[in-house]
Amino acid sequence: MADGRVEGDRMDDASQALENPDIRTMLAQVYPLGPVDAVLARLEPGFDPGRARAQALFTALYGASEAAVRANCEAVRFDGKAVAFNVRHGAAQALMRVWGRIAALLPRHPEWGAVLRPLGGTLAWRRIAGTTRLSMHSFGIALDLNPHLPYWRTFPGEEGDLEAITRRRSGFPPEILAAFEAEGFIWGGKWASFDLMHFEYRPEMLLKARVLAGQVSLP
Ligand SMILES: [Zn+2]
Repeated sequence: MADGRVEGDRMDDASQALENPDIRTMLAQVYPLGPVDAVLARLEPGFDPGRARAQALFTALYGASEAAVRANCEAVRFDGKAVAFNVRHGAAQALMRVWGRIAALLPRHPEWGAVLRPLGGTLAWRRIAGTTRLSMHSFGIALDLNPHLPYWRTFPGEEGDLEAITRRRSGFPPEILAAFEAEGFIWGGKWASFDLMHFEYRPEMLLKARVLAGQVSLP
């Protein structure tokens, strides 16, 4: 769970949309699909697709209290560890499939150990620093890989700094990113407020992106 670490946030002019968005605002920034190079041109301060979250939606979907969320969580095997993940709305099943995708490639990529280990963790009922909002870890739908991966709060001044972010995330395995995105997870490494360890289950963000990209059509 990356003890002592909290997902970052700033209380500034943009904070209202971040602090208390409605669902339209939450979905306004389209998550950029695919390899990170494809998103560079659109990266600018405040471009954090998925980081503004309508909390009421998540309490309704995954549980409104720590006890309710825990009751909805089951253990998922991920890199030899059992991590708690929410079984509602396909989240735990999706994480299981993510690991299946990564595990199939891992024997050929021993260097991925530095990205995956030590595993930061999943479920942790906590608020985001400086806000009243619950972290997505509270709902058991977020996973942190190695907590030493770059995170904007540990690199003051680099938030939105295109070159710096590009440098920080250049070594991140595209296959791991693809495994998560294929199963409905977004990556904090695509945010201007970058958080390379952080993935969260946000199928609605992926669905909007895929519809707009013409990859799927809604019935
Ligand atoms: Zn996280």
